[in-house]
Amino acid sequence: MENKPTTLCSYCRTNPATSVDHVVPRKKDENLTSQNTTPACTHCNFSKRDHVAPKSSPSGYSGEWPRSGGQTSCPFGSRASSCDH
Ligand SMILES: [Zn+2]
Repeated sequence: MENKPTTLCSYCRTNPATSVDHVVPRKKDENLTSQNTTPACTHCNFSKRDHVAPKSSPSGYSGEWPRSGGQTSCPFGSRASSCDH
């Protein structure tokens, strides 16, 4: 039995995250810090691009979209030691 935690996309919480995405779209001199990145699945990362939140939900997702509180909430969820929420 594997003990690897699966990081879910912070936008849809449905697909496993495949990359990190900038929470705040491109800022000058903004580094890829943990404060400004969030795990995102392929769909959401592509759908989001320069927007604040993905424009469309991934297939397989059901419920309201954008996910309630999903676009500005702490991307770290239970690992809240590194966020203000
Ligand atoms: Zn997603």
